[in-house]
Amino acid sequence: MLTTTTKPNAYDVALENFDAAANALGLDNDTREMIKYPERILMVSVPVRMDDGHIRRFEGYRVQHSQVRGPAKGGIRYHPQVTLDEVKALATWMTWKCAVVNIPFGGAKGGITCDPKHMSQGELERMTRRYTSAILPLIGPEQDIPAPDVYTNSQTMAWIMDTYSMTKGYPIPGVVTGKPISLGGSLGRNEATGRGVFYTIQSACEHLHMQLKGATVAVQGFGNAGSVAAQLLYEAGAKVIAVSDSTGCVYNKHGLDIHNLMHLKALTGKVEGFPEAENIGPAELLALECDILVPAALENAIRADNADAVRARIIAEAANGPLMPAADRILESKGVFIIPDILCNAGGVTVSYFEWVQDEQHLFWEAQDVYNRLERVMKTAFRDVLKIHEERNVPMRTAANMLGIGRVAEAVQIRGIYP
Ligand code: NAD
Repeated sequence: MLTTTTKPNAYDVALENFDAAANALGLDNDTREMIKYPERILMVSVPVRMDDGHIRRFEGYRVQHSQVRGPAKGGIRYHPQVTLDEVKALATWMTWKCAVVNIPFGGAKGGITCDPKHMSQGELERMTRRYTSAILPLIGPEQDIPAPDVYTNSQTMAWIMDTYSMTKGYPIPGVVTGKPISLGGSLGRNEATGRGVFYTIQSACEHLHMQLKGATVAVQGFGNAGSVAAQLLYEAGAKVIAVSDSTGCVYNKHGLDIHNLMHLKALTGKVEGFPEAENIGPAELLALECDILVPAALENAIRADNADAVRARIIAEAANGPLMPAADRILESKGVFIIPDILCNAGGVTVSYFEWVQDEQHLFWEAQDVYNRLERVMKTAFRDVLKIHEERNVPMRTAANMLGIGRVAEAVQIRGIYP
């Protein structure tokens, strides 16, 4: 069991989560052996000619954890701390996440160990194209569909789509999701994760008989996921009292005007300096008395050493893995209602699935159509997880894992083993 406050190996956490849910499901050993581990792992060497003329080699990965319920699906991360174990963990979580929202995908993840903040656009493009070429045998609209993750974006997806299409000889937009709209991207994809977070918070409030209107909210991380969640909560009448990003943290006990804050962030790249607020420290934000805390930055934000200070009623995990396992146990014992990441932030992959469907059909939907379908998917998934949580008396995280793992187990049992 992982109890330390130092950063755990993400893959160990993924395996620990799997075992807890598999035990609760009473899953037999044969099924566990078939679904627990990644199906395919590819490590690639990515030589890139840098702007100064020399060649630098990067290490890249693509892990397909599962294709039991459909093609593998998962983002590509560019970060100095990318390791094979991290990619394996993220691929594993993608499998259960897709199954929780019941979309017909398995899980995958990719990454390159690099520092994109110190690379030019040209270097990033050459690295992306060479990496795409190296993982080309694994990817494809029927096999494995990458998407953006940390420090990759719609431009990265456009380069992957172009490289793949040029190699095959015809345009294949369905090979990636999170593309620009002009290349077959979906309306509503950009805000899908934050919108999904918002829908699950609505469901949680309903379940706890809490009014969202007037509820106090603190949001850690004001990027794609956090800013959209904050905006929708604000527009629904919640009082967003604190928001942070990597440069600082702003607080106003009467509530922040999120539209103005988004404007400032777009102009300056920071939340710091917002005139209608005071600055507080990052630890203070997590310890604020509030109804809803939304960690939307990085993993391991809440650990054994700061979990006890948390005074929120609901934690909505917009980020992947923001609670370390030890913190999870502390918060669970304090009665905090946790909306686990594989449920809470599944809006992104859900609209990725919608994008893939639209690409395959060559028929595109209105934004409102995307939102309505997303709301149905998220609220159904919330109800399904809550039912297991209540009927089996297990934490929401275990319940979500039980739902996802149970669905994959059922599929593998019906498919049987080949040969
Ligand atoms: P992003 O890069 O757009 O935003 C991250 C934000 O977190 C930035 O505002 C950054 O300044 C802030 N941040 C970084 N370190 C911080 C710190 N120590 N304290 C406070 N703020 C900090 O990234 P994103 O796409 O919003 O992703 C955020 C999280 O959500 C990640 O864990 C990601 O895996 C998860 N997620 C994102 C999506 C998606 O579609 N964007 C989908 C599922 C999960």
